[in-house]
Amino acid sequence: MWKSRLFTPGPAPVPDEILLEMAGTLVHHRTPQFRRVLGYCFRELKNIFQTSGDVYILTASGTGAMEAAVVNTISPGDRCLVVDGGKFGERFGKIAIAFGAEVLDIRLERGRSVDPGEVGRVLGGTPGVKAVFLSLCETSTGAHNDPRPVAETIRRVSPGTLLVVDGISALGAVECRMDDWGIDVLVSGSQKALMLPPGLSFIALSPKAWEIAEKNRTPSFYFNLEAYRKSLLDEDTPWTPALTLVIGLARALKMISEEGIENVWKRHETLARATRAAGLALGLEPLAENPSSVLSAFRLPEGVNAEHLVKSLRDGSGITFAGGQDELKGKIIRIAHLGWVDRFDIMQAVSALEFQLRVMGHEFTPGAGSAAAQGVFLE
Ligand SMILES: *Cc1c(COP(=O)(O)O)cnc(C)c1O
Repeated sequence: MWKSRLFTPGPAPVPDEILLEMAGTLVHHRTPQFRRVLGYCFRELKNIFQTSGDVYILTASGTGAMEAAVVNTISPGDRCLVVDGGKFGERFGKIAIAFGAEVLDIRLERGRSVDPGEVGRVLGGTPGVKAVFLSLCETSTGAHNDPRPVAETIRRVSPGTLLVVDGISALGAVECRMDDWGIDVLVSGSQKALMLPPGLSFIALSPKAWEIAEKNRTPSFYFNLEAYRKSLLDEDTPWTPALTLVIGLARALKMISEEGIENVWKRHETLARATRAAGLALGLEPLAENPSSVLSAFRLPEGVNAEHLVKSLRDGSGITFAGGQDELKGKIIRIAHLGWVDRFDIMQAVSALEFQLRVMGHEFTPGAGSAAAQGVFLE
């Protein structure tokens, strides 16, 4: 017998009650019944984004919302600054380049978080930067980037510049307050903290971002947010939404609202601390200097091949961790504690990790990781 257990930072596990909700008979989308579902989602998404503005639902994976952020705020020839801490920071740069922007980047050593002072120096030395792009959690390294000091720096050094934040993996798992913190464009995706399958993404714009979007010259159609803004006046979407996923989304948002968003953030924080404590007790070195509560990335001890560990657990036991991407391939493992995850899910992950490390000949006191994780839960 073989059970599938996902500890990946997308897709993340989907609760049974959401799967069941999505298994119902399809309704048509231009009906009062479906509008009610959409209306509920539009209201509750404001809580996830911590904004009083509107949040739009796109039928696309997270990258679609990243592209929407670019095509609605960046015109060809505009100068942008990308904080490239890994694969996803880098992706924002690639999208901006594809649409004709001039891209400056701050390339971080993998595992490091943004230094707001560095952002200030680049903005101070380069006039006319239209937007700064930042990942809330750089999912390829597990590093957390705090948008607050970056927003403060922008206000001080270059107040016309927009702060665009990729919250695809972290929004709904980690504290992030769009309005209070001064984020101008914020995006998220369905298959991470929102406990759904892939296929939806979300985007919100501040009034300052809307002023720019209204004048933006990059051609767009499917992702033109003017169309979404107009439809939302009738609690609707401009094109056929992924109905089934929206029905699941309503259920996910209800679960989050019942737990309370601040409790959800706290749960992720505790699960992350337990996972990191276990890793340390097993002699694994954390990759991120300022780790996110979304996932924990570890370098493995000499002689333990990360790729082999991930494959053996996945194919032998149905436990899926993520490996490294690009230059981190084969060097790290990433264990997500994201979305529908509780204490004993983490105990399973830690126990599986210990088991596989023993199989691979790494020496440690058996049970040391589990004891360390339990220690955090017992606090
Ligand atoms: C998962 C992820 C993405 C990409 O989203 P897709 O749904 O694969 O298009 C982008 N940014 C971050 C930070 C992510 O974690």
